[in-house]
Amino acid sequence: MQTGLHAHAPDSASLARAARMLLRLVRAAQPISRAELARRLGVNRSTVTDAFKPLITAGVVCEEPLPQTSRAGRGQGRPPMGLSFNSARDFFIGVNVGVRCSQVGLTDLGGAIIAEEEFATPVEPQAALALLRATIERVCARAAGRKLKLIGVSVPGPTDARRSRLLYAPHLGWRDVPIAEALQSNTHNGMSNNASVVVENDATASALYEARLRLRDTTGAALNDFILVRSGTGIGLGLVLGGEVYRGTGNGAGIAGEFGHMTIVAGGKPCVCGNRGCWERYASAASARSLYVGDRVQLGGMRAPSYVEIVARAEGGELRAQRTLEQIGQYLGIGIGNVIMGLGIPHVLVSGRIVFGWKFIEGPLHETVAQSMAGKLTGWSVEPGTPTGAGLGGALEVAVDEFLSSGLGV
Ligand SMILES: [Zn+2]
Repeated sequence: MQTGLHAHAPDSASLARAARMLLRLVRAAQPISRAELARRLGVNRSTVTDAFKPLITAGVVCEEPLPQTSRAGRGQGRPPMGLSFNSARDFFIGVNVGVRCSQVGLTDLGGAIIAEEEFATPVEPQAALALLRATIERVCARAAGRKLKLIGVSVPGPTDARRSRLLYAPHLGWRDVPIAEALQSNTHNGMSNNASVVVENDATASALYEARLRLRDTTGAALNDFILVRSGTGIGLGLVLGGEVYRGTGNGAGIAGEFGHMTIVAGGKPCVCGNRGCWERYASAASARSLYVGDRVQLGGMRAPSYVEIVARAEGGELRAQRTLEQIGQYLGIGIGNVIMGLGIPHVLVSGRIVFGWKFIEGPLHETVAQSMAGKLTGWSVEPGTPTGAGLGGALEVAVDEFLSSGLGV
């Protein structure tokens, strides 16, 4: 990238990473003073000043007085200044392709969601892409006067190494869908002419989203290394190492984190992937329905309750519902214990609608992990992330993070 940091040491990967982290910190915690940025990244204040000089000149980053709360106890002198992204210049589109519903949203570098539309995901990929194109066009019209920089797409399955195609989405039955190509041709009104499209696995996108939420924390509790377990219709994993998402290497990039289909019950329930006993058949939010009904094929003609209904029943004191969520906690714990040991990363965030039932899941989950090899590690943790918001939020994050990583067009 073209910041001052790079100008001093253009070939240093670690400095490029520091520059990227500076930009992410500004976005997550803006307005933020140079002194605070320097403190949190452990660099000199002059390094921060040099890094932002070209960005301020180019109008990408601006300076504004810090709000009163963040300078309590200061005198009447010149108010300290904070750095912020200029939200009036560019905008980004996020597309969350969900198994049931999809969303298209619009954000700026300031992080505000300016527009959002939701619709049921069409069964056929071509119909879905056509609907996405039309929705993107409509949403883009709400950003008059700004320039579309990037489109980030979150998909429920692995992507190719270039992050342009969805390889396989088992719950949608889609294979090898050229999403970037299809959305790039969305140039009717010229707004998205030059915007590139980045397609990311939904768990990786959620990991980016959770990482940013934690960057706001000024106490230094930000997690630089964690496993994100996203449990909803299925289970996917996102990996963050040293503050960067890990996607796999070589031709395997885009595939890392596909743990939802590891077998945890020999000869268990059949799965959409064609195997039996997969983790997501026992620990996804969607699996609650069959765990609740048990071996009974019918509930006297009644429809099995959804996950959210089961959580409501558990909160109302129904034992069957509570027992269902406790079972999910155990199964989640079995898989999480395996994953912690397999990857050597002791911190786990759980996100997706499974989080709605956290108070019933948490106890059995922690007990199960504690009994596993992972439980012998000191300082392991499994915490809840956000139940909703990481879908579209993750897609928007994919777009903005790509922009921050690629030099901001300066
Ligand atoms: Zn499976």
